[in-house]
Amino acid sequence: MKYLSTRGHADRKRFCEILLEGLAPDGGLYLPESYPQVDDATLTKWRNLPYADLAFEILSLYIDDIPADDLRAICRKTYTEAVFGTKEIVPLRQLENGLYLEALSNGPTLAFKDMAMQLLGNLFEYELARRGEQLNILGATSGDTGSAAEYAMRGKQGVRVFMTSPFGRMSPFQQAQMFSLQDANIHNLAVKGVFDDCQDIVKAVSNDLDFKRQYKIGTVNSINWARLVAQVVYYFAGYFQATKNNSEKVSFTVPSGNFGNVCAGHVARMMGLPIDKLVVATNENDVLDEFFRTGVYRVRGSADTHETSSPSMDISKASNFERFVFDLLGRDGAKTKALFGEQLGKTGQFDLSQDPAFAQAHQRYGFSSGKSTHANRLATIKDTFERFGGMIDTHTADGLKVAREHLSAGVPMIVLETALPIKFASTIVEALGREPDRPAKFEGIEQLPKRVTVLEADVQAVKAYIVANCK
Ligand SMILES: *Cc1c(COP(=O)(O)O)cnc(C)c1O
Repeated sequence: MKYLSTRGHADRKRFCEILLEGLAPDGGLYLPESYPQVDDATLTKWRNLPYADLAFEILSLYIDDIPADDLRAICRKTYTEAVFGTKEIVPLRQLENGLYLEALSNGPTLAFKDMAMQLLGNLFEYELARRGEQLNILGATSGDTGSAAEYAMRGKQGVRVFMTSPFGRMSPFQQAQMFSLQDANIHNLAVKGVFDDCQDIVKAVSNDLDFKRQYKIGTVNSINWARLVAQVVYYFAGYFQATKNNSEKVSFTVPSGNFGNVCAGHVARMMGLPIDKLVVATNENDVLDEFFRTGVYRVRGSADTHETSSPSMDISKASNFERFVFDLLGRDGAKTKALFGEQLGKTGQFDLSQDPAFAQAHQRYGFSSGKSTHANRLATIKDTFERFGGMIDTHTADGLKVAREHLSAGVPMIVLETALPIKFASTIVEALGREPDRPAKFEGIEQLPKRVTVLEADVQAVKAYIVANCK
């Protein structure tokens, strides 16, 4: 299996080459040259596999430069009951007839990003050891991504994490999750500024190519192909749990901002998993809902990016969306480059409403979308609690609200549960008048000693910290 860039670059690369890379050299995103096809006999063979072995089967189709025994061992080490809380790893629970929640949020940081990041940690450790190299991961987080990365990389050989976050702006629970880590290779940098300042610092450091090379700076952001392919697995696992045989179809509703999670659903569907619809659920930051309704993709400025109660979907642009548009345009790299590499930079938008390809987004690729607001979120959390006795988080509530608008008789609808409510306690209190349930292992984490360095919002200060802590 070789990988190409969505912007038409001539290079073809193998999995382990792109594992530690971000963007392709032309600024595009990596995708496989073709999607491996999974037939009925294969689905049947996979139907009853344990999650780790299903992961191995799917990843093997995309990774041919890690020996099979090693890859299987990595999958088995990653997807364990001890780490993910249940034997199923992603258990499905029925809410009502035909409507299910698939739990992706029982990993170490209680959000779906653990599903991919835990694998990435083990793949990084493996590949760095094989090369005899080191990597310093520099990131910016407003919550979920940073903690998932830290829990995935803690104690790993060859990897250090330098994670910037806006000083005093994460929820107390999120701060406790990250800052209570005592591992020597994890560095929390609380920057006196907002999330955008953190992101600007990371960009500035990464753009200093000499510094980047000398200090082996890398990232773990959501455009990483390895993260995406790891997510493909739980679409298969959800499908198998909701169906009895392969003639049945299911639909998925996916709370989304960056198009990272649902892009994996698109890949699963392209491989032949019998998915009827892929429904994208956004919050008030409705860049994606607008596209699927109108054909216009319009990125937002920071003034138009709302701070919402489902904060992990508060995005101004959808960083993985280019992958889908590339497929939608018949894998035309030149056209994708013109849209994402040129037009978007100049005008902040592009319009496919008159392009015959746009209709295919619904017809051929199965996409639909919807939007949910703060009021919808509160009502959905309350309704779910009163009728089913279960608490859901704010992002999952966005998904459930939108899913109900896209039900079709005889097709099970699976809503991906992307976090547990404890991470977003204040909105749960607003909706239910009581604190969310807290998993036992997180009792009292706010009281643990904190390991964090407060820095000015200054590129030099962050660079100096990295230099001093890189040995
Ligand atoms: C990251 C995140 C999302 C959005 O994921 P996408 O990459 O935008 O698909 C949704 N919910 C939670 C809880 C998250 O952490």
